[in-house]
Amino acid sequence: MGAARTAFEDPRWRDLSQTRRGRLLRNMGDLIGEHAERLARTESLDNGKLLREMRAQLAGLPEYFHYYAGLADKIQGEVIPGSGRELLNYTLREPVGVVGAITPWNSPLLLTTTKLAPALAAGNTVVVKPSEHTSASLLALAPLFEEAGFPPGVVNVVTGYGPEAGGPLTEHDGVSKVTFTGSSGTGRRIARTCADRLIGCTLELGGKSPNIIFPDADLGSAAMGVIAGIFAAAGQTCVAGSRVLVHREVYDEILERVTARAATIRIGDPLAETTELGPLAIAEQLAKVESYVELGQAEGGKVVCGGRRPETGLDGYFYSPTVFTGTDNGMRICQEEIFGPVATVMPFGSEEEALAIANDSAYGLAAGVWTRDVNRVHRMAARLEAGTVWANTYRSMSPMSPRAGFKTSGMGTEHGTEVIREYTRLKSVWINTSEEPAGDPFILRS
Ligand code: NAD
Repeated sequence: MGAARTAFEDPRWRDLSQTRRGRLLRNMGDLIGEHAERLARTESLDNGKLLREMRAQLAGLPEYFHYYAGLADKIQGEVIPGSGRELLNYTLREPVGVVGAITPWNSPLLLTTTKLAPALAAGNTVVVKPSEHTSASLLALAPLFEEAGFPPGVVNVVTGYGPEAGGPLTEHDGVSKVTFTGSSGTGRRIARTCADRLIGCTLELGGKSPNIIFPDADLGSAAMGVIAGIFAAAGQTCVAGSRVLVHREVYDEILERVTARAATIRIGDPLAETTELGPLAIAEQLAKVESYVELGQAEGGKVVCGGRRPETGLDGYFYSPTVFTGTDNGMRICQEEIFGPVATVMPFGSEEEALAIANDSAYGLAAGVWTRDVNRVHRMAARLEAGTVWANTYRSMSPMSPRAGFKTSGMGTEHGTEVIREYTRLKSVWINTSEEPAGDPFILRS
């Protein structure tokens, strides 16, 4: 903490021009490109994500640093038009200070980058607390910041458990802003601490996202969209399309296509090129998935695919792609985030009904819509209570596109230009340019 505060006030960082700050971010992006294979392997070994998925992620990661490198010297205040010509009023957009960043285990490098790159572009220093389960890839990334030219103390990593390391980071007087990605429960706890301290926090939390298929969709692509939404990364993504809503007219066909593909997903070693589904990252997650599958059956749902640990002959927390039918949106498996490869497939009869089911959730992170009707896409996008709506695609993301969670899925925005507001504070400066003697002191000047 001390190192981050000292670095924030160090002229080598504080007085660096915004263009030069951008150059350091550009260097960092380039270095990630050079070290991509090592970083991809480290994370794959640490949390069991597919190596080929990590390679694809690492190919895109430099773009986050490059994007914010370009933005660094476009962060600016503005001149405010005043009523009197002799008063000049302008704003300064300043860094907030030391940012505490706390991240989960499912995508450590990506989710840390989405915080670090804009926070640094805005001139802050950062202390990152990665998940206790997956700290290795971030520890591998951290030394590259110094190599890129960032002064010591600008980026810091503190490892440890949530209550012992994460908690004190949010409570520390020296931290001016917290940015958190993780579960809604932990997010609430962090928000309470920040409220007590009257500091800002950005929260990217859980989801229970609907993936909605209309009869006029390209059914083959829609079925693959379902697979991508819930079985990629073994369902351990915040945007997992875990509630699949299918129009009655095409329900049987979609179910058939999804279960047929799910049954042939190649489960195995995440380092192997041919593997499509690796293990869950941690034992607790496997236990959680198993308990939700039991709960879903006890609630009256029917497992039509998966629902067990597969035979892989490998050590690891593997779980088969699982599809439930016969569920009602009110059931706990349709309302609570499982964070594993478990989909519920539910029928609907009209656009209104699809919207009602989709929005009947405490969460509001993302939603998918599959249809060839562009007017329907617009209608659905306007009324879905979700921070991201995808039509005829799922899980697309870019550093340029803002990402926010509605309802209990979060607070604040990440990515894009909008995120800069999260990492800056606005100062209003007034300058009297008049040579006239001061006027009546009892009258407010405007
Ligand atoms: P988690 O909430 O258990 O932990 C996240 C981080 O918070 C970890 O680093 C943990 O050590 C820390 N933490 C735990 N207790 C803390 C406390 N009292 N004070 C401060 N820090 C504390 O979440 P997880 O299980 O690691 O990750 C899975 C969750 O993350 C899922 O709910 C998923 O949806 C969510 N997630 C959201 C997004 C998004 O962008 N919205 C992205 C990925 C994951």
